[in-house]
Amino acid sequence: MIFKNKKILVVGAGISGISVAKVLQEIGAQVCLSDSKKIEDVNHDLTGLIDSGVSLNFGEQGEAILVDLDYMIISPGISINAPLVLAAKAKGIIVLSEVEVAFQLAQAPILAVTGTNGKTTTTTLLSSLLTQTGKKVHVGGNIGMALSNEAILAQADDLIIAEISSFQLEGVCDFKPHIAAILNITPDHIDRHGNLENYQAAKEKIFAQQDENDFLVLNYDDTKVAKLAAKSKGKVLFFSTKATLREGIFLENHQIVSLFDGEKNIICHKDDLQIKGEHNIQNAMAACAFGIILGLKAEVLAKVLKEFKSVEHRIEFVDTINGIEYYNDSKATNPESAIKALEAFAGGVILLAGGHDKMTDLTQFMQEIKKKTVCLILIGEATARFKENALKHKIDNIYTATSMEDAVAYAHKIAKINQVVLLSPACSSYDMFKNYEERGKVFKQLVKNLKR
Ligand code: ADP
Repeated sequence: MIFKNKKILVVGAGISGISVAKVLQEIGAQVCLSDSKKIEDVNHDLTGLIDSGVSLNFGEQGEAILVDLDYMIISPGISINAPLVLAAKAKGIIVLSEVEVAFQLAQAPILAVTGTNGKTTTTTLLSSLLTQTGKKVHVGGNIGMALSNEAILAQADDLIIAEISSFQLEGVCDFKPHIAAILNITPDHIDRHGNLENYQAAKEKIFAQQDENDFLVLNYDDTKVAKLAAKSKGKVLFFSTKATLREGIFLENHQIVSLFDGEKNIICHKDDLQIKGEHNIQNAMAACAFGIILGLKAEVLAKVLKEFKSVEHRIEFVDTINGIEYYNDSKATNPESAIKALEAFAGGVILLAGGHDKMTDLTQFMQEIKKKTVCLILIGEATARFKENALKHKIDNIYTATSMEDAVAYAHKIAKINQVVLLSPACSSYDMFKNYEERGKVFKQLVKNLKR
């Protein structure tokens, strides 16, 4: 695809939109960045962009902005079915996602990770693992750094690791990562995709263009994901925490082993991982699959796995105070994620949950709370409904906290040696905090204050 001298409209002034607008302008395209919000509401610095010659269109987005366009580049927040996008398509304008542009511009191979859950953990671990290849590693996508910017920076013999969401995959056409992984597929973002089939179809685009020289890493334990092997033109490598595989990454006597090209190697014991929970063994296995395909030795993989600490806000170990461990899992914004966190502990958990209530079903969450916790501390808007559900499940040790500070102070007061204080809210944070990151940081600061 040639972008030079083309007239391009980039829609969405977020991290990826701003990056791709600048990148395209710098390679000689005539770019306009557009967003329906007012320019004063943009949270990012636009000076570099304006200096590079990109024109801006904020607020009203009439069809006039589509005149004579060659391409429209959409940010992940813009649906492929948004009226402006449909209007562009009706005029024959080619609509692409920022990830597709990154792929078109990249000289280095792209290694891509998608899935409903575990993308950031796997991508971050993967970047630590692949640094061991001796190559320069660039990380971008759905992880805070725009992929288009990394694609431009990477030299031909570097590696680009891409965390990819279903939204980003909606607008790809030729995107062809050399290695792609699908970690899991569970119902999510149905409001945007319309139904589970569309959501899955978007995920499948990660490997749709692969050929026999490429690799597809799939979760054998997730039926929906495992079935995709039949559609793959690339070589499939499975990982599993439950089955013994003829080829792939799996557990044998609690050891993570790899069996690839007829060669079997023990990587490490599953308990050697610092990241907690079975879901994190799966993430580690997926990352190892990339390493093995790229020729890393088992002992090199083991060293990185043993050293890797969790990503911030994901069952992140904070501190031990008086023999009590504190964990921050603020990223758990739904019951499914909070269940994963509870499953990672044997018991004795003092759980801090609640926040902005997404009105999701709480049955399984309450069952897990009943099994693993000694006290449930509730905060935020969700308190009343969570408490009502907990009482129905005969969870009787419940404390209603007035603030995060109160919650942490109460947990500290009642916790006994060898117990665990876990913030895993199962709710979004918007009732009390800017976002889950701020919530996690406040929790960690309060824990640090306890030590003082
Ligand atoms: P993502 O980037 O896809 O949102 P993260 O790595 O940030 O994923 O993890 C977010 C949450 O998803 C974690 O706190 C955990 O509860 C859950 N999770 C992580 N990995 C997995 C997995 N492999 N399977 C199921 N749930 C997972």
